[in-house]
Amino acid sequence: MSPTVPAPLNLVGGSWVQAGEPVVDVVDPATGEVVTRIPDTDGAGVDAAVAAAREALADWRTTTPFHRATLLHRLADGVREHRDELVGLVTLEMGKPLREAGNEVDKLADAFDYYAEEAVRVHGETIPNEQHGVTSIVRYEPVGVVGAITPWNYPLELIGWKLAAALAAGCTIVVKPSEYTPSSAVALMALLQPAGFPDGVANLVLGAGVAGRALASHPGLDKLAFTGSTATGAAISRSVAKAMPLSMELGGSCPQVVTASADVDEAVAGCLRRGFRNAGQICIAINRVYVHRSVHREFVEKLTAGVEALTVGPGSKDPDVGPVTNAGIRDRCVAHVQQAVADGARVTTGGAVIDRPGTWFAPTVVDEVPPTTLLAQEETFGPVVGVTPYDTTEEAVALANGTTAGLAAYLYARDLTEVFEIGHALDFGNVAVNNPDAGIMNAPYGGRKGSGHGYEHGREGLFGYLHIKHLRVRYG
Ligand code: ADP
Repeated sequence: MSPTVPAPLNLVGGSWVQAGEPVVDVVDPATGEVVTRIPDTDGAGVDAAVAAAREALADWRTTTPFHRATLLHRLADGVREHRDELVGLVTLEMGKPLREAGNEVDKLADAFDYYAEEAVRVHGETIPNEQHGVTSIVRYEPVGVVGAITPWNYPLELIGWKLAAALAAGCTIVVKPSEYTPSSAVALMALLQPAGFPDGVANLVLGAGVAGRALASHPGLDKLAFTGSTATGAAISRSVAKAMPLSMELGGSCPQVVTASADVDEAVAGCLRRGFRNAGQICIAINRVYVHRSVHREFVEKLTAGVEALTVGPGSKDPDVGPVTNAGIRDRCVAHVQQAVADGARVTTGGAVIDRPGTWFAPTVVDEVPPTTLLAQEETFGPVVGVTPYDTTEEAVALANGTTAGLAAYLYARDLTEVFEIGHALDFGNVAVNNPDAGIMNAPYGGRKGSGHGYEHGREGLFGYLHIKHLRVRYG
């Protein structure tokens, strides 16, 4: 059953408003059919949303964290009550299989509960002074009005992490979701008022580049939180109106290192999950694998067999792999695979566009990938994994670290020396050893190098929305 697509309206100061003519088509990637059309909110529309967030801030920042926690728990309950609707909209616009959309909605609700619990654990400290009668207190205060710009691959979670932490901290927020996946964002924001959040605390502006640029460069913001491509992140960093905290979660191109001591079956299972889940459209997707030559052949054979066993189809039929979300991703898969083959690599399965309406690329394994080719250097962000054999540990580390990416890396090894030597040498913010989950809600998650800066998840995710104040009081 198709979900009901909500009207493409902005949420500004508690009112749903039409932001202009609908000019951007939102397409179901499984069929190519237009789902809805949204406006690209202009500067005046973004001004209104930022002004509403500013107005609401004065009262909201003085509420107690206990009150904010109560509302966040209610929002989590609201998400769970509307699970089917949210899942349907995510799959319709983004294309992912229903059970993956279900996981996303469940984790969205968990994020609201998590930050409800963290909200009341923001403790300051007192610091000894050299003089009698003077005390230094460190306290945390909300940064203020936050702008959040998010992509389409996890259309709800990537809003949710920012929304949950901002609201828990006592900030107000203006969210601009991706133009590919606006409807689940509208449905999520509609749950805020029923949960008891005051008008203007959380606002939504729909649109693409016009809205994004207007929000990113708005002088009324106190912080900008962005998740998206490295190129857009760089453009945004240049366009901000003033010095303020920025958090940037950018592209990955994540490596997996499989050593001679690895459990090859586990390494293959990890690669299948983290390379092909969400059709590979994950910032922390495994894109390139470096396998010790002694287990290289076994790894490639088993990975190829595993990929051939994956079911492919529309997300609504709940296969293993759905369509890719847009033509840009499909075309990049083609370009990366073709270039790798031209540079001497060999496709062991897949390797081509699937010819049907919508945007599709076959789950693909490419072997003997030269380290200099695009597939080994840049993020594909599609269902494509490239494998390269290596001989020495130093070589594996150099290959894994040898791109601008610094978000996540995966290591499969049973030898403890390898685990720690390689685990420490990998220049990434998140390293998962013998498991494919580099990000969990209660541990900090963030990149380095070209993958950005700042943290989401964990206490660190909340502290990104708080300023530190040193209050030095002389009382004697
Ligand atoms: P992705 O491929 O992950 O969608 P983008 O970085 O293009 O990557 O998009 C992420 C978000 O940034 C989307 O909400 C998009 O509309 C927005 N966006 C795109 N260009 C700009 C820009 N120049 N300034 C601000 N936001 C932008």
